[in-house]
Amino acid sequence: MDFSFTEDQVLVARLAREFANREAAATIKECDETACFDRTFLTKIAEAGLLGLSIPQRYSGTGNDYVALGLACEELEYVDTSLRVIMSVHVGLNSLTLLTWGTEEQKQRWLVPQARGTKVATFAMTEPSAGSDVAGIQTHARKDGNDYVLTGEKMWISLADVADHFIILAWTDPAKQQARDHTGLSCFIVERGMSGLTTASIHGKLGVRAGNTGSIALDEVRIPEANRLGLDGEGFKIAMSALDQGRYTVAAGSTGLIRACLDASVEYAQTLTTFGKPIAEHQLVKEMIAEMAGDYEACRLLWLKAGWLKNEGRRNTRETSVAKLYGCAAAEKAASNAVQIHGAYGFSSEYNVERFYRNAKGAQIYEGSREIHKLLQADYALGLRTDKPLRCTLPKPE
Ligand SMILES: Cc1cc2nc3c(=O)[nH]c(=O)nc-3n(C[C@H](O)[C@H](O)[C@H](O)COP(=O)(O)OP(=O)(O)OC[C@H]3O[C@@H](n4cnc5c(N)ncnc54)[C@H](O)[C@@H]3O)c2cc1C
Repeated sequence: MDFSFTEDQVLVARLAREFANREAAATIKECDETACFDRTFLTKIAEAGLLGLSIPQRYSGTGNDYVALGLACEELEYVDTSLRVIMSVHVGLNSLTLLTWGTEEQKQRWLVPQARGTKVATFAMTEPSAGSDVAGIQTHARKDGNDYVLTGEKMWISLADVADHFIILAWTDPAKQQARDHTGLSCFIVERGMSGLTTASIHGKLGVRAGNTGSIALDEVRIPEANRLGLDGEGFKIAMSALDQGRYTVAAGSTGLIRACLDASVEYAQTLTTFGKPIAEHQLVKEMIAEMAGDYEACRLLWLKAGWLKNEGRRNTRETSVAKLYGCAAAEKAASNAVQIHGAYGFSSEYNVERFYRNAKGAQIYEGSREIHKLLQADYALGLRTDKPLRCTLPKPE
């Protein structure tokens, strides 16, 4: 077993770290405070080549493997969760899904500009009244000749108000919708500018305030059959396979957040003195630091294993889920303890840790809530769930 990183993986991690420090570290606090998404991040992250990570070079990507993608997410989230979210939805949920399920024509049309970063993409499953319960979505696509006509509303969608392309999950079979049969769902590629499509930003979020989260309204949006991703009725499988990649980037990002909390806590604990000595010498403070250090190592191993499985072309739904479950729980705990170590100052925006704390909460909700991942893990352990082979699988890195 070899735990060392390749030269390529180290280079990608450095590229992401330098990008985040150069382009975001100085301004992200203000973006968070004003809840303002800085659109120039998209241009800059594209120019840095990060939007093409893990996409083969023949589709204008960088051709790096999936561990490199995880390392980039860790470095981006070290600075702010909103930077990693861009990677999660554009690369994880959308581009890798197109790579897995798209036809050659669809890859040339949508994946190539996404990998170049000239177009930004996202993935829309959640609705105002359905998140965890996917069969509860109401968006439907009516077949009309060679077209589909989409109607519905998507909510809580990352980059909704700035993306150019969207993968949208919708019912195509009303009888199966009534029966809550997942095989009545299909996925569609919808483009900004199509008649009947409008988007809006959501304000008042607890965290990821420097990122864009929004809604998408679809009012009789007519799209050609060529925009359907996968087969009619394959939408649920596609969405779940998309989540395998999105959740992976969230898991990898969570270790960046833990490391950011650890570094901030170590620095503060060595500086502040109480009762005649630095608080770093008080055992209860040390305990919090020890937990952050241990959780960082353990959670990193979990997502690295999932990344290795992806590189091997092997199914990794269970391993990705457990990496996301533990990584996000540990990040929330690390951020809470980082605030604790900073005392009252940690409770204010003077230090970054309060932002880390607010950002950490979101990942306990999106890409499968904490409870949904616990249910998944229990079902695997109880033998109630096994993963069957899919028609299309994420290709090995080229
Ligand atoms: C910042 C942010 C970004 C997001 N980005 C995207 C995106 O890009 N695309 C997208 O499609 N969605 C996105 N989402 C939506 C996210 O995926 C959903 O919020 C998530 O799936 C949970 O759904 P919900 O909010 O409707 O909660 P619900 O499903 O209504 O759940 C409410 C609570 O009940 C619990 N619960 C539900 N069912 C069960 C059960 N069976 N057993 C035990 N507990 C249960 C949940 O864990 C949760 O605690 C985003 C959300 C946020 C906050």
